[in-house]
Amino acid sequence: MPKQRHEAGDEPARLTLTIGSTAYDVRITRGRIVLHGHDRGQRYDVTTPDGAVECTCPDYGHRGKPEGRPCKHARALISLGLITLPEAPDAEEPQD
Ligand SMILES: [Zn+2]
Repeated sequence: MPKQRHEAGDEPARLTLTIGSTAYDVRITRGRIVLHGHDRGQRYDVTTPDGAVECTCPDYGHRGKPEGRPCKHARALISLGLITLPEAPDAEEPQD
């Protein structure tokens, strides 16, 4: 029986990220990380403009962005070291 070739083609490796019970294919390209959900084919682009972490998921759009905090996708990528943020300057620096 001939072995079926994956359509992914010449990718040297594939990274799968699991958040909760959802698995995503992770594609790291210049300037962005793209997550493709296995279950429903959802796609989220995670970018780091100006030292913030933005995501195209609805949760980030509704809550994360207004509240200035990363969504679960961004937090997962940060926790794995796939995204590094520049040191946030301490706003509460005591002054003499
Ligand atoms: Zn997200």
